Amino acid sequence: MRIVTTVSAMRRQARRWRQSGIRVGFVPTMGCLHEGHLSLIERARKAVGACGKVVASVYVNPAQFGPFEDYSRYPRDLERDISLTRAAGVDVLFVPDDREMYPTNGDGSFSTYVIEDSVAAGMEGASRPHHFRGVTTVVAKLFNIVLPDIAIFGRKDYQQTAVVRRMVRDLDFPIRVIVGPTVRERDGLAMSSRNRYLSVQERERAPAMFETIRLAREVVRKASAPLSAGQLRRRLIQFLGGQPGVRVDYVAFFDPDSLRVVQRVRRGTHLALAAFFGKTRLIDNGRL
Ligand code: AMP
Repeated sequence: MRIVTTVSAMRRQARRWRQSGIRVGFVPTMGCLHEGHLSLIERARKAVGACGKVVASVYVNPAQFGPFEDYSRYPRDLERDISLTRAAGVDVLFVPDDREMYPTNGDGSFSTYVIEDSVAAGMEGASRPHHFRGVTTVVAKLFNIVLPDIAIFGRKDYQQTAVVRRMVRDLDFPIRVIVGPTVRERDGLAMSSRNRYLSVQERERAPAMFETIRLAREVVRKASAPLSAGQLRRRLIQFLGGQPGVRVDYVAFFDPDSLRVVQRVRRGTHLALAAFFGKTRLIDNGRL
């Protein structure tokens, strides 16, 4: 596995592959890798085949964190990420630093952003202003640097996959986006680098996120007619927010394709939730 730290070296490699007609699969991450990330790397390998190349990136993108969020304490473990990606059969690990990704060129600061204006508006977009602007900007930059044919994202960040798909369509990136399923711990907690922040007690309560999705599924599947979103939301907030030390940020029901909020919940409606366990903010989602 080759480790590349500069934009120019990554670009040279990408151009050589393109000239040779080699297919490239790309998995962008913020590192501190877990089995969720590794499942996307596996999916990338399957998509490009043995003759293709798999690129993973590790970059904690400051532009997608708000001023009071966890950017400075976001977990970093590059040595471990290197051995995990090497073992997973990654061809190139791209690890740029901030000066590579956001150079100031001596003439002030970085000032061009990519903004998706529709599916990015609610949920994470409403709770974390500028988050998706940071995501789309860095993903567009990474796409331009890595020149992948295929990019793989995780369903764990459902709204992010919708935002990236929309950006790819609207800005004509010649890239196929594949979305891999959410990988969970045995007790149902969605794997996340942020799970490391949880205290022992918080970790014990964290499966309540997935239990909330399961509760919603059960209620929807038992119902003979569409349900009021308001009523079901109150019930789920009561359940999740009733756990000690848990503060619900949002519970949202929406159409899985348009991400439009719905007033009536039925089978096939998508549910997304965000909640604080102490200081740690967790998200999860699932189809009902
Ligand atoms: P992150 O490092 O958290 O920015 O995530 C990098 C990629 O891995 C994103 O496409 C995430 O959606 C995906 N991902 C994170 N956690 C999981 C998980 N538990 N299962 C599947 N994919 C995940």
